[in-house]
Amino acid sequence: MKDAHQFDIAVVGAGPAGLVAGLACAASGLKTAVIGPRADAADGRVAALLNGSINVIKRLGLWETIEPVAAPLTGIRLVDATDHIFRAPEVLFDASEIDLPAFGYNVANSDLTRALEAAAETRLARITTRAVTSFESTDSGAFLTTADGETVTASLVAAADGRNSFIRRYAGIPVTDWSYPQIAVVTSFAHPRPHNGVSTELHRPSGPLTVVPGPGNTSSLVWVETPREAERLLRLDDDGFIRALNTHIAPLLGPISALAPRRSYPLSGQTAMRFGKGCVVLIGEAGHVVPPIGAQGLNLGFRDAAALAEIAAAARSGGSAIGAPETVDRYDRSRRADVASRVFAVNLLNRSLLTSFPGVNLARGAGLAALAASRTLRQQAMREGVSPSLAPLMLTAPIAAGVGKAAPGLDAPSPSRA
Ligand SMILES: Cc1cc2nc3c(=O)[nH]c(=O)nc-3n(C[C@H](O)[C@H](O)[C@H](O)COP(=O)(O)OP(=O)(O)OC[C@H]3O[C@@H](n4cnc5c(N)ncnc54)[C@H](O)[C@@H]3O)c2cc1C
Repeated sequence: MKDAHQFDIAVVGAGPAGLVAGLACAASGLKTAVIGPRADAADGRVAALLNGSINVIKRLGLWETIEPVAAPLTGIRLVDATDHIFRAPEVLFDASEIDLPAFGYNVANSDLTRALEAAAETRLARITTRAVTSFESTDSGAFLTTADGETVTASLVAAADGRNSFIRRYAGIPVTDWSYPQIAVVTSFAHPRPHNGVSTELHRPSGPLTVVPGPGNTSSLVWVETPREAERLLRLDDDGFIRALNTHIAPLLGPISALAPRRSYPLSGQTAMRFGKGCVVLIGEAGHVVPPIGAQGLNLGFRDAAALAEIAAAARSGGSAIGAPETVDRYDRSRRADVASRVFAVNLLNRSLLTSFPGVNLARGAGLAALAASRTLRQQAMREGVSPSLAPLMLTAPIAAGVGKAAPGLDAPSPSRA
């Protein structure tokens, strides 16, 4: 066994959330390691990164690298494509109504992680591309071993190792998890008509079909369906899939072409019962998983990263140990309301589409009708979505991202487990 390397923070997991957390901590002057295999280069997902996340990227000095592969998101159109009696009118959220050029930018996960990895290689004290295979809590932090026998000690461990987090299990942090009878089919394509930066969400009874604007006349697709229909769509050859997609897309963007490979993601939700314990804090999907509705998942992960960097740097400058219980508790408290409100809202919206209960459909339809009719309500909803309004802490953070207002907490949809 080689000698252990000592760090202030070891981030376990080199997905987008882990890499941003590592870079943000390093930018705050903390000796940081990121440990984990390189992210899947064939990840077909595109993330709509809202302005708070884009500000994090800018503060890290990475915007010039990412901007050429990013597409601005200037509008979000919601179309009620259900067959419910109380169908809502179409709602268009236009960033110019709140004096913004865009709500954010769409970036392919693979482009994002490539840029983050390149920066991590030059800026971090260490980046190791092996998985962590053992974790031990010590008096002064944690002792980690990787698959190739390298050892690392750190005052604080940021678990960014995804929804099945190995570190979270070792730390004994239980989660609440649930699933939806839905699968998202993901791909991208070209089209003849311009999208004008507008993302369109067709709210259908089996889930939303979302077309996200990409660079030029390209868009990416998140098509949420029942498992049976999703499997049928995945089995179709390209021509058959294009025909199926054109029934929804051609009226908007013209007939599609240049279809990229399809991938699928079963929809599920998960939230940790706390976001820190011992010398471990949870980042990204290790702490929370939400369905791909309303572009919340990775944006939450960016806010986790910004909060961690700020709180750990404050602990250091205040003379506290970085992995001290008060530092971990502070991080936990800082993330609770933001995560709970987003998980609650996304779960509610998705379940309201799936239900055939008339009262729920009426309420959803009335809510969307009110938004369609009132510019003031739309402006409030848009500011809520993109602007910091919850934690004063985050507003002063050096690389802080946007945080939404607290909503009622989520009732546990299923029993929790460790
Ligand atoms: C269809 C779809 C569309 C989406 N669209 C959006 C969107 O528009 N906007 C948005 O904000 N979010 C979106 N999301 C959510 C977003 O994609 C996720 O939140 C994000 O990719 C999760 O990143 P992560 O780094 O937390 O986790 P992951 O990407 O899962 O990374 C975890 C990493 O940990 C590593 N790892 C695991 N175990 C170990 C170990 N033992 N040791 C070391 N490393 C380990 C893994 O190899 C992996 O690289 C979408 C999700 C889906 C499914």
